[in-house]
Amino acid sequence: MKNCNLFKACMHFVIISLLTINALSAQHLFSVKYNHLTSEKLSRINTQINDAEILTLTYNRNIENKDFFRIPIVDKKNTQIILLNEQSGNHVVITPSSKAPSEFQLTPFFLEELQQSVLGNANRYLLIESDKELSVKSVSSVSAARGEVYIPQYFYGNSENKNEAYPQDRQIINIYKQKPILFPAFPDDPDNLSYIAQLEEEMSYYAYMYKLPDGTLCIYDYHFNPDNENKTIKGTHLQFSLSGSMNSEQYTATEYALDLWGTQLLGSVPVDISVSFILLEVGVLGRSFRMQDFFDDGSYETPFHNTFYPSSLWNQLVKYDATMMKDIVIEMNSYYSDEFYYGLDANAPSGKRDWVTIMLHEVTHGLGFMTNTTQDGYYFFVDEDGWLNYADYPCIYTRQLYAGLSGACVTELTEYERELLYISNNLYAGRPNSYLLTANEGVRVKMYAPKPYKPGSSRSHWDSSVSFPTFMKYAYQYPLHTFNFRKIGILKDLGWETPDNEPIISVTDIADLPNATSVDLSLTLEGTVLPNTATNKTIKWTIQNAGNTGATITNNIFSANATGTATVRATIYNGIAIWDNFTKDFNITVGKGAQTEPLAPTLFSNTTTEIILNTISDCEYRKDGGEWQKSTLFNELSPATFYNFEARKVENANYLPSPASPASTFSTLPLKINQNEFENIKIYAYRNNVIIQNESNLPVKSVEIFDVIGRTIYQNTTSEIETIINLQVTNGLYFVKIILQNDFSFCNKILIDR
Ligand SMILES: [Zn+2]
Repeated sequence: MKNCNLFKACMHFVIISLLTINALSAQHLFSVKYNHLTSEKLSRINTQINDAEILTLTYNRNIENKDFFRIPIVDKKNTQIILLNEQSGNHVVITPSSKAPSEFQLTPFFLEELQQSVLGNANRYLLIESDKELSVKSVSSVSAARGEVYIPQYFYGNSENKNEAYPQDRQIINIYKQKPILFPAFPDDPDNLSYIAQLEEEMSYYAYMYKLPDGTLCIYDYHFNPDNENKTIKGTHLQFSLSGSMNSEQYTATEYALDLWGTQLLGSVPVDISVSFILLEVGVLGRSFRMQDFFDDGSYETPFHNTFYPSSLWNQLVKYDATMMKDIVIEMNSYYSDEFYYGLDANAPSGKRDWVTIMLHEVTHGLGFMTNTTQDGYYFFVDEDGWLNYADYPCIYTRQLYAGLSGACVTELTEYERELLYISNNLYAGRPNSYLLTANEGVRVKMYAPKPYKPGSSRSHWDSSVSFPTFMKYAYQYPLHTFNFRKIGILKDLGWETPDNEPIISVTDIADLPNATSVDLSLTLEGTVLPNTATNKTIKWTIQNAGNTGATITNNIFSANATGTATVRATIYNGIAIWDNFTKDFNITVGKGAQTEPLAPTLFSNTTTEIILNTISDCEYRKDGGEWQKSTLFNELSPATFYNFEARKVENANYLPSPASPASTFSTLPLKINQNEFENIKIYAYRNNVIIQNESNLPVKSVEIFDVIGRTIYQNTTSEIETIINLQVTNGLYFVKIILQNDFSFCNKILIDR
């Protein structure tokens, strides 16, 4: 790790959203060396000590109510402080840098660490101030018994992990003083400037750089430690180390919020959080900072390689404290300190904002519910020195974001596409098979992505339209001290672990599932969840594989538009255990669907022997209950005859034939003879013969001949029509009636004149 200088961080605002830059700083104050002096030099010092007066140092107490020994430094350029176990000779040499203050603060943490790592046990240690030539200026003693000093187990460790060295294997080599640099709300106001400066000083503290056996440098921030104040460590399954400047009422409410979060997540490294009241711009309730991000280049066990992680989470993933920065820095605007409700009962009176709820919100951001993408779609990260850098890879949160309910992950988009998506009002969260999807029953959760873009708010909150109770909308709504599964789900997707949930009665099977339906039929999906006593029994249905059926499911109704087999998945979210879904895939065979009968056929045309119906799409037709035919033409019919016609929809790949339509009755035309045709049938008499000369196309059906008083004297109705009829009759007038095939007839007079 490089020496720590300034860092920038982007901020998140609770109500009014802005993106700006703030900075913290850390200054190198002291170098530390273990057992640095040769035995010769040590004996020179011992000689001087024997003649010196030994003062006993007493404790001082700092702004954060912690004890420390104050050791004045007269001449920084020519001073070193030697901490000595006079019995063993083990010692530590502390050398001020040019920027060191005029005193060294020997903190309980530092003393305890030295006792465990190098000095060893003793009743007291001698604290010797000497010049560089080892001329002793003063000697005092400090009690080595400092009682309970919290040095977390993860920092000691006992494995081969280089970051878990034994106390004696590691060495503090530098001491820094870390303090925030705050931007004044009123830069032209001297009072405000001095207030900010004072606050910066009061919030400063020591951080320690360690060297591990393999040469790795890591930085430990003693501010993590509760020291003598156990109340700063809050949380059961996940601990928070709380510091900051708040009054006791504010502190208690903040601890309460951290306690709530501590029941929800599991972790071995306390989350280092600072909550302070400072004066911010009017209109800004508070802000939280994005702190150092860590990159998994593929060598770690994380949810995603090539991904950045916030330090609060990264520490849990690597199981040690990897950052010297705080994990979460929240600054609330003291301008509004009277407008918060600091009670713990989620019962803020109207007009007051519930402090616990706001803390829950801000801590959620600090745990990783915050994107690392610029407004125009570029990834960035905060490096170990606190600088914002463009990145080639996204953060783990960004990997949860998607375009729309079914579109691509934003990491698959170009920067420009991301920029557009972020103002599309169509941004969603929920990776496939993610905990968030489990929590939201398989549906992505809409994220806040308004147009115009809202810096600090867009993308890092649920959308305002979501209806579940949450404190993660961009604006404060109401007191809420509970956690719904979606929030926990997305944090689990980021890599957070959760404590074991209360056991539930697991689903073992879903029986009585439907297995058949037909095209266009609405099938209500149902099943019997076994056992009947299962804790969670709500089934969500999704198409796993539609095959060729075009199957869809809407509100538990299955429908398909083609025959085939569809695979449906029944999911009971949290059915086996909390976060463990029960799923069962089953097939539904889609048979041919029913069709509605068409309207009765209508007539296109008719002749004496043919009837043509109007075409009805996808239909077939029949006459008088006969065979169905595709053609609309019915021929070889009798003239002037009535027939019944019906239509039905034809059977095809997806549908059975429909029932028959109502019948329509149409008739063929009667035969008609026009005058020309009559003229082509010539009838005349020659002597006592009647001659019928048919030159028309119409066959003659029968011939009758009557006398003038109507007596039939000749009749031929056979098919053998004579064309020359010999009549043995007297001369006179006779009538010849010709009946044609179409039953039309005409009568001609003839005169028999032999
Ligand atoms: Zn927020």
